[in-house]
Amino acid sequence: MNLDFSPEDQAFRAEVRAWIRDNVPEQAGPAIGIPSHKETQFAWERKLGQKGWLAYTWPQEFGGPGWSATQRYIFDTERALAGAPPSSPFGLAMLGPVLMKYGNDAQKQRYLPPIARGEEFWCQGYSEPGAGSDLAGLKTQAKREGEHYVVNGQKIWTTQAHWANFMFCLVRTNTEVPKQQGISFLLIDMRTPGIEIRPITTIDGHHHLNEVFLTNVRVPAENLVGDEGQGWTIAKYLLTHERTSIAGVPDSYYQLGRLREAVATDAALSEDPLVSHRLAALEVDLLALEYTNLRTLDRVAKGQPPGSESSGLKIKGTELQQAISEAQMELGGLGALPWLSPADDAHPVFAAATQRYNFLRASSIYGGTNEIQKNVLAKLLLQL
Ligand SMILES: Cc1cc2nc3c(=O)[nH]c(=O)nc-3n(C[C@H](O)[C@H](O)[C@H](O)COP(=O)(O)OP(=O)(O)OC[C@H]3O[C@@H](n4cnc5c(N)ncnc54)[C@H](O)[C@@H]3O)c2cc1C
Repeated sequence: MNLDFSPEDQAFRAEVRAWIRDNVPEQAGPAIGIPSHKETQFAWERKLGQKGWLAYTWPQEFGGPGWSATQRYIFDTERALAGAPPSSPFGLAMLGPVLMKYGNDAQKQRYLPPIARGEEFWCQGYSEPGAGSDLAGLKTQAKREGEHYVVNGQKIWTTQAHWANFMFCLVRTNTEVPKQQGISFLLIDMRTPGIEIRPITTIDGHHHLNEVFLTNVRVPAENLVGDEGQGWTIAKYLLTHERTSIAGVPDSYYQLGRLREAVATDAALSEDPLVSHRLAALEVDLLALEYTNLRTLDRVAKGQPPGSESSGLKIKGTELQQAISEAQMELGGLGALPWLSPADDAHPVFAAATQRYNFLRASSIYGGTNEIQKNVLAKLLLQL
């Protein structure tokens, strides 16, 4: 791909920058990056949807704006540099590509447009208490009864289930075959009787996560995506998209930039060569990750799947997110101690640092742990 920005790209950047500047949510700032304010998040996504820029990674035939890989990159960078929250990935980056590839026409028509307009919000029902890394061991059962599946089981760590209109869900439809072959992919309306959502509060003090209990939940059979038993193939396709979206390069640039600003306001930090070295090392790593990310995005933009490199992006991207948040907290010193808060004269980056640091411990776990991604790379890329 060509990374020299053409005059058209530069005009596009100016247009995007101006629009985002006029529409960025008021609460944007260093604490944002992890959606935790429902109204802010929904309003922002709907605004993007009305503009036709929410599903900016989708092909035009499904409601995307038809941008090139470079334009997508410019948009994502401008969005992050303005401190605007990333869009929730579940409908846009995960279910969208799955429905485009495996959904039937009725499912595409029903579900894709509201996602692109920011009108319907999705959550991901993959993990269960006994099925995290060993996802194929999931036990939630779906039994076919006439024109419905009757679903019973429990999901856990379901991000924003309490916000969601729908959940895409892996269910076991056959217990007689090897475990990978007995899984199916269902779309479940969260208002269906029999669904109970219990909150899990995380160490950053927020409620992002939930347990979801399903008791005799009746799901229309037309909500099955692909064939019965094809769920594992679909699940794996979705996961490569999920991992690619976790790399978070533009947001890491934003966080690192804010850290540089905060350091510049403090002579003890800005004149310390060890601090300069630390920031430079983070920047070099981020640049290397950015180029790998761009190669993957370019392939996706040409209609190919992200492939197993998405595992490398996930590992390195989350390591960097953690390293940047670690630097924000350590360099913040007393300014990053929440029990001194509001740390009166602390730079906002430092004041938000502990919360970000705490939440981001999870980034090497969600989307498939980094240990598992290393196994994927060893097997698929290195053929070990
Ligand atoms: C903040 C957050 C948000 C999440 N959001 C969602 C969501 O929206 N929807 C959803 O479905 N799930 C979600 N998850 C769940 C997440 O995908 C799982 O936590 C993850 O897949 C790991 O599963 P586990 O927690 O059962 O850990 P386990 O699988 O029990 O792993 C425990 C440890 O053992 C290691 N390990 C396990 N097997 C191996 C192996 N074979 N080789 C080497 N090491 C191994 C793991 O790497 C890990 O360090 C979320 C998790 C978090 C923390």
